[in-house]
Amino acid sequence: MLCVPAVRAADYTGPLFDAHLHYNVEAQGPYPLADVLARMQRSGVRAIVANSRPNDGTKLLASSPLTRQAGVTVVPFVRLYRDRADYDNWFRDESIHEMVLAELARGTAAGAFRGIGEFHLYDSRNANGAVAKKLMALAEQRDLAVLAHVDDPAIDLLMANTPSRGQKTRLIWAHTGIGGPSVARVDQLFARYPLLMGELSYRPGLACEGGKLCAQWRDLLLKYPSRFMIGSDTWVNQRWESYEDLMRGYRAWLGDLPPDVARRIGWENAASLFGVTIRP
Ligand SMILES: [Zn+2]
Repeated sequence: MLCVPAVRAADYTGPLFDAHLHYNVEAQGPYPLADVLARMQRSGVRAIVANSRPNDGTKLLASSPLTRQAGVTVVPFVRLYRDRADYDNWFRDESIHEMVLAELARGTAAGAFRGIGEFHLYDSRNANGAVAKKLMALAEQRDLAVLAHVDDPAIDLLMANTPSRGQKTRLIWAHTGIGGPSVARVDQLFARYPLLMGELSYRPGLACEGGKLCAQWRDLLLKYPSRFMIGSDTWVNQRWESYEDLMRGYRAWLGDLPPDVARRIGWENAASLFGVTIRP
């Protein structure tokens, strides 16, 4: 009998685009800029979607020569939160709408803001809040991406509030549904909204034994190879502590995919959305 050793696909070794990164105020003391950039560098992260509470952390990343030296391209998003209290009120708070307009007008040292978010809706009905509606329409009109941490009913509600009813809306679904809607439901939403993309941090059901992709998810990623991206979601400091492990985890399951699909999800999908090329 021929014994075939278990073959483990090699990890993905190409560049990574961290499409869900926060550099919040409480991270900046224990994890100064040089430190977070070193973590990205050691992880092969060459570009990031940066947003922070408040927006100063994003501006710091965007303006520092250290970022350029680390070879990291910053794609800045406007965060809707000045502080923790804004999480539960942004969708009806006119002062948030005004802050977003002012930040968009100001831009960053790395160029214009390219998106809005991450924002949260803990109750999907708040997608119909006055400010949520205005921001969704604004995003589509200005060709801004939206990074939204919401459940699947809220995807339909947010999309309904855009001029194209979601047909031209660049919504990045944080965690592709942190509550774990079924693969069939994700598939249905991806079919309904052609520019909807899924970011995969914390996604329940994605990784199975040994950190490999679960079969259903592998099939979904292969069905929509241009629609997924990875992210660290450094929402608390512990995520900075484990940043390199998180990225190693992505590299492990990306290695289960055909190399071109791994590169798309790890890098290309986000890079082409924002027109980012790797700096030498
Ligand atoms: Zn987040």
